[in-house]
Amino acid sequence: MNDLPSTPIEYLKGVGPQKATLLNKELEIHNYGDLLFHFPYRYVDRSYFTKVTDLHYEDSYVQLKGKIDQIKESGKGRYKKLSARFSDGTGDIQLIWFQGISWIKSSLAIDKTYIIFGKPKVYSKKWSIPHPEMTMVTHNAVRTGFFPLYPSTEKLNSKGLNSKGIEKLISLIIPQIGQSFPETLSDDILNEYRLISKKEAIKKIHQPKSQQEIQQAVMRLKFEELFYLQLELLIRKKLSSIKHKGFIFKDVGPLFNTFYQDNLPFQLTNAQKRVIKEIRKDFLSGAHMNRLLQGDVGSGKTLVALMTMLLAADNGFQAAIMAPTEILATQHYESIKDFLKELPIEIALLTGSTKKSARKTIHEGLEKGEIHILVGTHALLEDTVQFKNIGLVVIDEQHRFGVAQRSKMWRKNTNPPHILIMTATPIPRTLAMTFYGDLEVSVIDELPPGRKEIRTSHRYEKHRLNVFEFVRSQIKLGRQIYMVYPLIKESEKLDFHNLMDGFEAVSRSFPLPEYKVSIVHGQMKSDEKEFEMQRFVKGETQIMVATTVIEVGVNVPNASVMVIESAERFGLSQLHQLRGRVGRGADQSYCILMTGFELSKESKKRMQTMVESNDGFTIAEVDLKLRGPGDLMGTQQSGLLDLKISDLRKDGQIVILAREAARKLIQEDPKFELEKHRRIKKHIDKIILAKPDWGKIA
Ligand code: ADP
Ligand code: MG
Repeated sequence: MNDLPSTPIEYLKGVGPQKATLLNKELEIHNYGDLLFHFPYRYVDRSYFTKVTDLHYEDSYVQLKGKIDQIKESGKGRYKKLSARFSDGTGDIQLIWFQGISWIKSSLAIDKTYIIFGKPKVYSKKWSIPHPEMTMVTHNAVRTGFFPLYPSTEKLNSKGLNSKGIEKLISLIIPQIGQSFPETLSDDILNEYRLISKKEAIKKIHQPKSQQEIQQAVMRLKFEELFYLQLELLIRKKLSSIKHKGFIFKDVGPLFNTFYQDNLPFQLTNAQKRVIKEIRKDFLSGAHMNRLLQGDVGSGKTLVALMTMLLAADNGFQAAIMAPTEILATQHYESIKDFLKELPIEIALLTGSTKKSARKTIHEGLEKGEIHILVGTHALLEDTVQFKNIGLVVIDEQHRFGVAQRSKMWRKNTNPPHILIMTATPIPRTLAMTFYGDLEVSVIDELPPGRKEIRTSHRYEKHRLNVFEFVRSQIKLGRQIYMVYPLIKESEKLDFHNLMDGFEAVSRSFPLPEYKVSIVHGQMKSDEKEFEMQRFVKGETQIMVATTVIEVGVNVPNASVMVIESAERFGLSQLHQLRGRVGRGADQSYCILMTGFELSKESKKRMQTMVESNDGFTIAEVDLKLRGPGDLMGTQQSGLLDLKISDLRKDGQIVILAREAARKLIQEDPKFELEKHRRIKKHIDKIILAKPDWGKIA
């Protein structure tokens, strides 16, 4: 029987519908299998005791052995607490309880030896452990072995599903495992890399008896994960090297040349020139192009895209550029039209809010080939949008588009049009290969000359008056200001309130008629948004209060200050993107990160990184360190790097072994036909089936 892993989690003793919903939501645990793949992040060695004098970490669990010599109750009502002085001969600490006080008080014994376990914290310069787990040592009560610590969340904690609670649930399933986890690696691989079986590994990772068992289990599970990742990449690579036929853009014609020689208002950077050459090579190769263009915000990607679209037009092909939001599409449209105003070329804008009659005209223009460049949003994916001869599609900020959407573009011509994907989210070089094994990558690693470094500072709420004063002084100089509020899906309502409160405060501090304030947020209709946005773009308003809808691509060179409210609630790459909205003109620009006073270590690090660095790659590296690769933008949707146990930063050695094993296998048996690879074939088929558009896209 194989259905244990898919048994819904609410059938487990002690779970029930309510906790099941919470497990779904908080940890994406839906069934027994998910729970068994919820791995410990650490183990505590039961035979090891930390000494009080050696305590130096907050946040990590310790085990101490010693005696209690004093018990004290203090406070009243809700603030009542119980504390006990615990000493192990090297020093003493406080054990503290806020709940269950009378029961605990009656069960504590003075001068008996206890083993206590918990997370030490510093309260008023003294170590204490709140709500420790306690075991009195009688001769037969010493626990040995290792026990696991599981990730949990605040909500789960409050329902008793802390690490201990999760451990207990898992221990209920483990005896029932039976034959539920059949082997997924071949015997050859198991032998060669001395790996334990899958079933053993799952048992041991939760209930190890020794350090060695932990290592064996972890190694086996990481190896499997990385092996299949490598195998998947190799197969993808093979599929994409079966090059689809692509259109050839032979000529550098009058459009490109006139633009380059007569209309381009500045010199291209060397990086831009290099990238255009790379793309041009693809256009001449006869194969289909699938290229990723990475470049920091403001590095001039859009301009590169524009020039490649001119190459398409010079060769009788249409081109389209697709942006993730209406505002951005409109901006692209305006700036492209402006750049190309001297050229005999027809450009159209198509978005969700294009009126029916205009839409009809555009459809016809596209089918007749009268429109050469189409700028738009998702709207241009619709089946009703047909081209006479589309040859190139540029996709801006790719992570906003789903895989299925991208694949639609393939069907818009007899051969698939060339695809250029632009992203400002830098993938650290160390990971680029793993993410985009099958995509060609171009990098613009140079900003246009004359850009002034944006000055970034971190300010607390109590500095608000100063910050506003500074904003006024900038407005006096004729500059414009962004003030951005976080928008996080889970609490949209709350965010909306924050935004409105902020808007009110700003309107009060910057009153009419001297100051004019725009507001843009996600709950506005798109024409309202557009209207407000345009007022700011035209300089009719000086302050733009907004949620992250402005994150991507908006270009207002006169805006010189970006104030980010509740900056601690943004991720690093998002902060960097937002900051990129200023510093687009010749003026000195500023980014001010406003936060609350209490910040987690991680938030502090994020603020510090922003203050210290303007470089997208450096920031991405820190982001990677703080959050791990699974969280990087775009990778979640791609589902490619859904790693449960491995850590690409730390498991380099295993990656190498896994890659070697995957290569060998593909070489020996490229179609997985050998009987000994039956299990592997079955498993990889399952992985591929889960990703329908696999191999075709990006
Ligand atoms: P990205 O899309 O990479 O964020 P854009 O293409 O929007 O960047 O360019 C940002 C700004 O810099 C635009 O105003 C653009 O006209 C300008 N720009 C682009 N390339 C150059 C260059 N080589 N020299 C000067 N300005 C440039
Ligand atoms: Mg851009």
